[in-house]
Amino acid sequence: MELEPLMELEPVKIGMSICLLGEPVRYDGGDKRDRFITDILEPYFIFVPVCPEVECGMTTPREPMHLVGDPENPRLVVITTGEDKTEIIHAWMGDKLSDLEKAGLGGYIFKSRSPSCGLYRIKVYDRKGHLKSNNGRGIFTRAFMDRFPGIPVEDEERLRDPGIRENFIKNIFKNRVPSKDHTSR
Ligand code: SF4
Repeated sequence: MELEPLMELEPVKIGMSICLLGEPVRYDGGDKRDRFITDILEPYFIFVPVCPEVECGMTTPREPMHLVGDPENPRLVVITTGEDKTEIIHAWMGDKLSDLEKAGLGGYIFKSRSPSCGLYRIKVYDRKGHLKSNNGRGIFTRAFMDRFPGIPVEDEERLRDPGIRENFIKNIFKNRVPSKDHTSR
């Protein structure tokens, strides 16, 4: 898909899992910079970076977590200790989702495989650590999609597929109008 014509449209704000931009905020202190996002997409969008785990007050590095319980309404739990972090992230999410509503996002790219940000096929375990479902969704992503069901969303792994990538970008821009002055960006 040709991206150049997008420069003639009003710029669109895209929510973004911040580790995909190269910020070292993951549980292990690393990042997951995605070159397609940072090197190809970046000139055409205004990224609105978010890290649910750090923004709700967790440290970096931190103990890895996973989802536990009801796959439709799971808890966010530290794997080694069983400490339940669900209320901490829920308390932060209310105001954050209101802020994102004011930001007027046109799309969101989530980090795959994360218990907070994952979009598809996130593993959910029972209290004994046995796999219960491999079709869960990250705790923040689920809340975001419940609040903004019409906003196009994808994850960085799926965006490696040219067809998925094209659909995502078309959906973002389908209701956009030509910019009065696209050179001012
Ligand atoms: S996947 Fe989400 S919660 Fe985890 S480091 Fe990236 S932005 Fe933060």
